[in-house]
Amino acid sequence: MLLKVKDIYAGANDREILKDLSLEVSEGEIHVIMGPNGSGKSTLAHVIMNTGGYEINSGNIFFEGEDITELETDKRARLGLFMSYQAPPEIPGVTLENFIRAAITARDGETPSFFDLRDKIEEIMDELHINTDYKERYVNVGFSGGERKKSEILQLLMLEPKLAILDETDSGLDVDAVEVVGKGIARFMEKKSRSLIVITHHQEILKYVKPDFVHVIVDGKIVTTGKADLMDKIGKEGFAQFRG
Ligand code: ADP
Ligand code: MG
Repeated sequence: MLLKVKDIYAGANDREILKDLSLEVSEGEIHVIMGPNGSGKSTLAHVIMNTGGYEINSGNIFFEGEDITELETDKRARLGLFMSYQAPPEIPGVTLENFIRAAITARDGETPSFFDLRDKIEEIMDELHINTDYKERYVNVGFSGGERKKSEILQLLMLEPKLAILDETDSGLDVDAVEVVGKGIARFMEKKSRSLIVITHHQEILKYVKPDFVHVIVDGKIVTTGKADLMDKIGKEGFAQFRG
């Protein structure tokens, strides 16, 4: 078992958002998480990554058997966890290239070769149809919505985590960008040991990755789990069928 989220109750500002939520992800698996707006999907991602702002009231999170419930975000990253934000933040003063170099340095405890890193960034930027000049720009500052999402996929492909959590990385993109992002995610999953949690509202992603499990979250709980055809059913019938 790679990730085990066990009986989690978590919230923010005295509000319980996740209510007895459990989820298990094994090596090589792709899990899709769907659910209405405000059901707790982003909260779950933030709680798994411990990005701050949310408190776990009870339950535990394990990664490769280790209890990481109290572990800081950077240490989780070092263990091989990665999360892309639904709304990627701007980081004025830090270029995209230096941001990625710092993340890899923090993870490995040593600085990667300057030119190897730059070559790889440029190769992946070409593949993602991002102008390579963007590596000199401050992270997300003045980036369009689509550019921000592509920059998240660039970070994913550079950092090569064991488990990636993508929070609506395919939302708000035009068809061409969806294809680029989809292919980027598929490239990440080429290595069979990698695992993925994809929070999405869109079935287009199915063209690029085949989920092993599809979970539906309603009101902070997983109310049903199925296979890829569950996405199709939700596409046709919506979430009303799962509301109590
Ligand atoms: P989703 O990603 O499924 O749309 P979220 O996890 O972002 O939903 O939010 C779930 C619910 O928790 C929403 O009602 C939201 O308003 C609320 N919520 C999220 N973050 C906070 C917070 N920091 N403080 C208070 N309420 C929050
Ligand atoms: Mg969300």
